[in-house]
Amino acid sequence: MPGNRARVLVLHPVLGILDYRVPHGMAVEPGAIVVVPIGPRQYAGVVWEPERLATEEVGDNRLRNILAVADAPPIPAPVRRLIEWTADYYLSPPSAVLAMALRTSAAFESAPTIVEYRATGQVPDRLTPQRAQALERIGERQGLVRELATIAEVSDAVIRGLVKTGAIEAVVVDTDTPYPLPDPDFGPPDLGADQAHAASVLRHAVGAEAFQPFLLDGVTGSGKTEVYFEAVAAALAAGRQILVLLPEIALTEPFLTRFAKRFGCEPVAWHSGLRTSQRRRAWRAIARGEAMVTVGARSALFLPYPNLGLIVVDEAHETSFKQEDGVHYHARDVAVMRGKFEECPVILASATPAIETHHQVAMGRYEELKLPGRYGAAELPHIEAIDLIREPPERGRWLSPRLVKALEETLARGEQSLLFLNRRGYAPLTLCRNCGHRFQCPNCTAWMVEHRLLRRLSCHHCGHTVPAPSMCPECKSEDTLVACGPGVERIADEVAALFPDAHTAIVTSDTLWSPAKAAEFVARMEHGAIDIVVGTQLVTKGYHFPNLTLVGVVDADLGLDGGDLRASERTFQQIMQVSGRAGRGEKPGTVYIQTHAPEARVMQALVSGDTEAFYAAETEARRDAEAPPFGRYAAIIVSSEDKAAAEETARMIGRAAPQLAEMHVYGPAPAPLAMLRGRHRFRLLVHARRSFDVQDVIREWLGALNWSARVRVAVDVDPYSFV
Ligand code: ADP
Ligand code: ZN
Ligand code: ZN
Repeated sequence: MPGNRARVLVLHPVLGILDYRVPHGMAVEPGAIVVVPIGPRQYAGVVWEPERLATEEVGDNRLRNILAVADAPPIPAPVRRLIEWTADYYLSPPSAVLAMALRTSAAFESAPTIVEYRATGQVPDRLTPQRAQALERIGERQGLVRELATIAEVSDAVIRGLVKTGAIEAVVVDTDTPYPLPDPDFGPPDLGADQAHAASVLRHAVGAEAFQPFLLDGVTGSGKTEVYFEAVAAALAAGRQILVLLPEIALTEPFLTRFAKRFGCEPVAWHSGLRTSQRRRAWRAIARGEAMVTVGARSALFLPYPNLGLIVVDEAHETSFKQEDGVHYHARDVAVMRGKFEECPVILASATPAIETHHQVAMGRYEELKLPGRYGAAELPHIEAIDLIREPPERGRWLSPRLVKALEETLARGEQSLLFLNRRGYAPLTLCRNCGHRFQCPNCTAWMVEHRLLRRLSCHHCGHTVPAPSMCPECKSEDTLVACGPGVERIADEVAALFPDAHTAIVTSDTLWSPAKAAEFVARMEHGAIDIVVGTQLVTKGYHFPNLTLVGVVDADLGLDGGDLRASERTFQQIMQVSGRAGRGEKPGTVYIQTHAPEARVMQALVSGDTEAFYAAETEARRDAEAPPFGRYAAIIVSSEDKAAAEETARMIGRAAPQLAEMHVYGPAPAPLAMLRGRHRFRLLVHARRSFDVQDVIREWLGALNWSARVRVAVDVDPYSFV
């Protein structure tokens, strides 16, 4: 490519790769962030090595000029390689992957300041109900007009009106304020012997500045965090950047506090809950190599760290690392690839590693570091199954007598209990006793879930909500609607009826929707203001409450139906994780697992604690089925608002499937969630041998076909969701 041309990966969803002319006097190198024209509009993009991204060559006379080069550091080469790899592996447009690296205006707007707004404390002369609501909800918070309006649930105009009255004022925020530097020697722990060994291996690996994946495999409460903090300290001492990935935003807040205890200040947080100014400040500091430690959700993986020396994926088995929309990538696997391109170690920490990860260890690709016991005096909890057929709860109740008795005793000792049920709301199904009518979502193949606290029925797939009905819409009778099955709210009601004096808390994404809410929950637990927690999977991870000694799993069978290939594994992981919340201090913990299938392999393994036997049996079953990690899957999901169009396209794709010995195509068939957000869905499932380049085949197969613009075809490589 001649010197005055540049190939640019543009943030445009369709026209991803285009050539431009570099105007006289402008210097661009690969990685430079630039602004380019497409039609009448301007887009951001990144200059790329032309030999690495192919596009149609355009004659010199048709080239348009690059308009500007952003005042930001270039996207480093390892990140460019990661973007290419991710696009290739997950069959996504490279521009869609690039969008994850540039997800902030900080990349192309060089202004170091941003104007935010906050309340002054002045009360406006005319205090309309909307204004009052706005001021009350905003409180001490600060943000853009749009952000404050969202928090206050009012229109932008209400906020602007308050600015005019002087009740809200503008403040200029410097988004280049440096972050404090974590100190590797601030609060080092005394490590136990197993911890010390693992830590020294990891420190060495950081020093070697070479790619090496580790599995840090330690039971819950074994002190994995303290161990990988030693690797963080080593990277800090060497002046390298560090990325820690967590599976959920809710876990960030406790992590920040814990990190500050060890390193003297908080790390930089990156997640979808950040304000624009925070996001900008973080992005710029990261891109300049000044933000040393970032903790974030999976999207932090694509940020342009110029000097990355260590990646940690905590709770690495969590399936929430798999992104289910847009680019369907698995952050755990992409993290390992990033480590490869960056030539740095990657630590996957987990008490219940995925079968896939164990397999990598067995193949000698990952090094395993084990922490077999809990740290200090803490013992692993005692686990018992309760057979719901032999010891059923009372009629209309969900907690069996043995679990109720244990709750009572725990309360009497002044200790805390946790009841786990992975179902939000009050009841998963409402039906009419008179005519049998069931409340279904109009947009999805799903029942409407009753949320009694909010007096609403809501669909957990698309968010559709309606006020709780008082009358059956079918037969018009009143007082005939019944709630079927329990959700956490219903369990909390049962607890309140059994123990009217106990303080209960419901913990779900409905109640813990922000880091601040999570911090508040942690504080209340630590101060003993809560006796019994009723929660979904949100409470199963990461938390450390020394006075929590009893865990009850309300319905251990819930995750087993559905026939998903990972159903047993996931049930095992989830129950091990929630059990891991019990007895983390000096007091021993007990776990009760309510089940209809106490003889199932997964229940037996949980009770006996024979993790290895369970993994061995699961792994053999996978080998027999040629399921991952021994074989591979890719799902092709065809959807449209027009059912016939979706079905026809799915059939056409099925007919065009290549006939190969290494690969088998199942379907198309209606997806288990046959309708989602108003779209009809059909699935094809591709099953192939491990070593087979299934992406290449799918690329060619789908690339040769055309379908109507009303139909969307998404490919999910290594799918985790089979709905
Ligand atoms: P895991 O992540 O393996 O479940 P944690 O890292 O949360 O375990 O450790 C469990 C508890 O033990 C935490 O409260 C932690 O602070 C404490 N702990 C672990 N190792 C040490 C140590 N070496 N010195 C002091 N406290 C420790
Ligand atoms: Zn009815
Ligand atoms: Zn819905």
